[in-house]
Amino acid sequence: MGNNFHNRPFVVITIDGPAGAGKTTIAKKLALRLGFCMLDSGALYRAVALALIRGGVDPNNHSIPNAAICALNIGVEPGIGSMKVTLGTEDVSAAIRSEDVGVAASKFSAKSQVREFLLGIQRSVAEKCDLVAEGRDMGAVIFPLADVKFFLTADDKTRAKRRYEELFHKGVNSNFSEVLDEMRARDHRDETRNLAPLAAAPDAMIVDTTNFTPDEILEIMLERIDSRVGGLK
Ligand code: C5P
Repeated sequence: MGNNFHNRPFVVITIDGPAGAGKTTIAKKLALRLGFCMLDSGALYRAVALALIRGGVDPNNHSIPNAAICALNIGVEPGIGSMKVTLGTEDVSAAIRSEDVGVAASKFSAKSQVREFLLGIQRSVAEKCDLVAEGRDMGAVIFPLADVKFFLTADDKTRAKRRYEELFHKGVNSNFSEVLDEMRARDHRDETRNLAPLAAAPDAMIVDTTNFTPDEILEIMLERIDSRVGGLK
């Protein structure tokens, strides 16, 4: 789109929030509607976690050996409304979706070595195309000058129900109260870590998704984008 309203070549819209708030679903819909690329930053943290697990690094260890960080070979190929993530030549977009990798990603993501490693990779995506970037710290840390910032929330039982149904559709039999407990533990880790804790950027628009469908939320966000910057729809 190259909309130059801030003298920057590409537009950046950020969507942050806790697990299960609807970020990935909404980011994809928004990116497809606007014809923007998508940055799923959680997928990058998951790819790092997968590589480190394969390299035998324990996510509960205090620090990560520098050699393991240097050996990381993460690639990201943003597309319109999608993103492919690779380890070397291997497409790991599916392999990173397991629960184990998600939990390890949440633990590794508290470490400065990992956040520093991914900072430049994430910013470089915004140099290639208009972007919808979703994660935990997109608006506050990675893209502080983003054109429009959203923070999605939903009550934790609704978020756990979404996660439970997603697992069910994937054929994974889980237990609702375990999913809820795991989600609360992950929220706690993400909110209380020292580095880039999960929090809405001061200039982010908060959207509570609890009682809305993804399409309803998309319309709410498009209205807000239009009132903030105009002409993007
Ligand atoms: O969003 P997703 O569940 O795929 O993210 C996996 C984990 O990566 C999160 O629990 C969070 O700890 C971490 N993460 C992060 N910062 C981001 C995106 C994800 O710390 N921008």
